[in-house]
Amino acid sequence: MREVWILAETKAGRVAPVSFELLAWARSLGSPEEISVAAVLPGPAADPEELCLHGADLVYHAADPALDGLAAAPVALVFGSLFARRRPEVLLAAATTTGRTLLPYLAAREGLGLTADCTELELERETGVLLQTRPAAGGNIMATIKTTRGLPQAATVRPRSRKPLARDPGRPVRVEMVALPAGAAAAAARGPRLVEELPFAESKGLADAPLVVAGGRGFKKKEGFALLEGLASRLGAEIGASREAVDRGWIEYPHQVGLSGRTIAPDFYLAFGISGAIQHLAGMQTAGTIVAVNADPDAPIFALSDLAVRGDLFDLLPRLAAALEDYRPAARS
Ligand SMILES: Cc1cc2nc3c(=O)[nH]c(=O)nc-3n(C[C@H](O)[C@H](O)[C@H](O)COP(=O)(O)OP(=O)(O)OC[C@H]3O[C@@H](n4cnc5c(N)ncnc54)[C@H](O)[C@@H]3O)c2cc1C
Repeated sequence: MREVWILAETKAGRVAPVSFELLAWARSLGSPEEISVAAVLPGPAADPEELCLHGADLVYHAADPALDGLAAAPVALVFGSLFARRRPEVLLAAATTTGRTLLPYLAAREGLGLTADCTELELERETGVLLQTRPAAGGNIMATIKTTRGLPQAATVRPRSRKPLARDPGRPVRVEMVALPAGAAAAAARGPRLVEELPFAESKGLADAPLVVAGGRGFKKKEGFALLEGLASRLGAEIGASREAVDRGWIEYPHQVGLSGRTIAPDFYLAFGISGAIQHLAGMQTAGTIVAVNADPDAPIFALSDLAVRGDLFDLLPRLAAALEDYRPAARS
């Protein structure tokens, strides 16, 4: 049985949703007979059992308030004390500010290899080597990296690159409390302190939108792109765009979806005139349902689409908008 650990994060005193995405990644690496999954949860949290209900077999909860705010030095000492008992094969963290700060610190301290910002992970069955795929050479290629020395093999993973598993209230809950290791309180006192956590208003922007209509170079010019705006407002959808559309000045950069734009996971992604370059797919491949309209039957986006509509967007889009004449979007809470 191979062990995979994840670094769980908290937000406002509860387990942060990005931790559930990491558990889904961990579980994807093998069957329950092959892989056991543990979550390391530093800092106080009201609901550590949620990690088990979302896929963890075990939670190591170091609940001391000194660890609140996930300062790197004391949290690394917690990992050090756990590693003294056992070392997992794989350690995953989210490529959030916390994960990006903590994992390099821990890797340097423990002499581990670390691959940052992965978009795909796979475990080589025979060897247990983690195949860590991430953009390289300025995003022009996807490189698969192996860490051949040192355990655990550590990687950070892009948030929203995988959907969390459905919450299963029937899963067994196992939470083991971890005491604050020697030196951790002093390290925490020397480091940054979480003084106050300010709740920020839930963004209703592209990143959180359940419905996204997106456009690419197929719109030919800015005036063409305006057709998309009409459809989006009719549907109550947010607008996404390929880099080609953004670079041409048809829409602003915050709407760009992909490797050098946003990573989104809406329930529904409706793409017009987007070819489906690997850099675009990296930003939307976890969408629930993908519908693509493209004139080219070989457009790569079709391979990923639930519904592939071959046709001219200048013909189809106005007809769709007309068919939705009486549609009223449900208010979003
Ligand atoms: C480092 C790096 C980072 C990048 N980051 C991103 C990123 O974040 N996001 C991103 O999107 N790209 C990114 N790119 C660019 C990416 O490689 C592609 O160039 C880009 O996604 C292509 O955009 P597109 O699909 O709109 O254009 P194209 O690839 O030109 O595709 C246009 C599509 O429109 C279709 N079409 C044309 N006319 C019609 C019509 N009348 N009706 C229906 N369909 C029609 C065509 O068949 C074609 O499939 C990046 C590239 C690099 C090197």
